[in-house]
Amino acid sequence: MRYISTRGGMPPKSFSEILLSGLSPDGGLAIPETYPTITADELQQWRKMNYESLAFEILSRFIDDIPAEDLRAIIARTYTREIFGSADITPLKTLAPDFHILALSNGPTLAFKDIAMQLLGYLFEYTLAKTGSELNILGATSGDTGSSAEYAMRGKHGIRVFMLSPHGKMSRFQAAQMFSLQDKNIFNIAIRGVFDDCQDIVKAVSNDHTFKQAHRIGTVNSINWARVVAQIVYYFKGYFAATQSNDEQVSFAVPSGNFGNICAGHVARMMGLPIKQLILATNENDVLDEFFRTGVYRPRATSETKHTSSPSMDISKASNFERFIFDLTGRDANKVVELWSAVDKGRAFDLSRTPLFEKIKEFGFVSGNSNHAARIATIREVYQKYQILVDTHTADGLKVGQALRDKDIPLICMETAQPAKFSESIQEAIGQEPPRPAGFESLEDLPQRFVVKDADVEAVKAYIVEEAGGSLQ
Ligand SMILES: *Cc1c(COP(=O)(O)O)cnc(C)c1O
Repeated sequence: MRYISTRGGMPPKSFSEILLSGLSPDGGLAIPETYPTITADELQQWRKMNYESLAFEILSRFIDDIPAEDLRAIIARTYTREIFGSADITPLKTLAPDFHILALSNGPTLAFKDIAMQLLGYLFEYTLAKTGSELNILGATSGDTGSSAEYAMRGKHGIRVFMLSPHGKMSRFQAAQMFSLQDKNIFNIAIRGVFDDCQDIVKAVSNDHTFKQAHRIGTVNSINWARVVAQIVYYFKGYFAATQSNDEQVSFAVPSGNFGNICAGHVARMMGLPIKQLILATNENDVLDEFFRTGVYRPRATSETKHTSSPSMDISKASNFERFIFDLTGRDANKVVELWSAVDKGRAFDLSRTPLFEKIKEFGFVSGNSNHAARIATIREVYQKYQILVDTHTADGLKVGQALRDKDIPLICMETAQPAKFSESIQEAIGQEPPRPAGFESLEDLPQRFVVKDADVEAVKAYIVEEAGGSLQ
């Protein structure tokens, strides 16, 4: 399996060569030269497998430069009952016949990002050990991604995490989740400013190529291909759990932000998984929904991005979306370059009067959006009708999924976070606090470890140099 860039300017590379890198040198995203396809026999064998074996079958199609036994060991360490709460890893909850929720948020930070990030932690550690090198991961977070990265990288050899967050702007739960980590390789930097200030600092450091190289700075953002691959597994797992035979089709409803989760669903479908619809749900930040309904992709300015009660979907442009457009154009890199020359300048592109817009249907995509009132009503309704409590992001997926589903096809809605993380909205919906999962009862009372810095690039650089100079545990 070789990887190319969506913009056509990268010589084919192996998985391990693209694992630690962000954007391709030409500004595009890494993508397989061709997708592996699954035979009917293979699909039949996979139906009986547990998560770990299934993950190996799927991952080994995309990762062929790590010896099979090593990859098996990495997967066995990642997908455990200890880390994900059940042997099923992503258990299916059936609400009604042909109406299911796939629970993806039973990992350490109670959000679906753990499924990919936990694997990334072990993959990074393995690859760095092979080459005897180190990595300093620098990131900005407003909550979920940062904590998921920290819980995946804590205690890993050869890796330090420097995570910037807006001082005093995260929920108490989110701050406690990150700041209570006492691992020596985790550095929480609370920035006096807002999330955009944090992100600007990360961009400035990443653009300083000399500094980046000298101090081995890397990222774990959502364009990382390994994260997409890890997420393909649960589409298969969910399909097998919701069906009796491989003649059946299913539809998935996916609460979306950066298009990472649903991109994995798209790849699963390209591999041959019988998916009828990929139902994309956005919140009030509807940049993706607008595209799938109108053919116009119009990234928003950060100032136009609304703060909503499903905050992990508050995005102004969808970083993984370029991978889908590459496939939609029939893998025409020149077309992608043309379209993204507008996007990279903050402008829109319009496919509405082109044959490409019609082609979207062939890929199974439909979309809709949700808003605060719909989200609260959905949480209440699902709780009253099925005695199941969902979080705000999952509610967006449920709302749009129920509205757009093909009635004859089983629907699987992706549960992307636990309600415990969003107690304010849960209060509003059902008049009581969400239950805390075991182990999180007194999270906010634990001792916290973080430093506070001004929104100043040089100060952050100096801190990294000081801390990264020391030896790793
Ligand atoms: C990140 C996230 C999403 C959006 O997923 P994408 O892969 O960015 O589309 C949805 N819900 C929750 C809870 C998340 O953390």
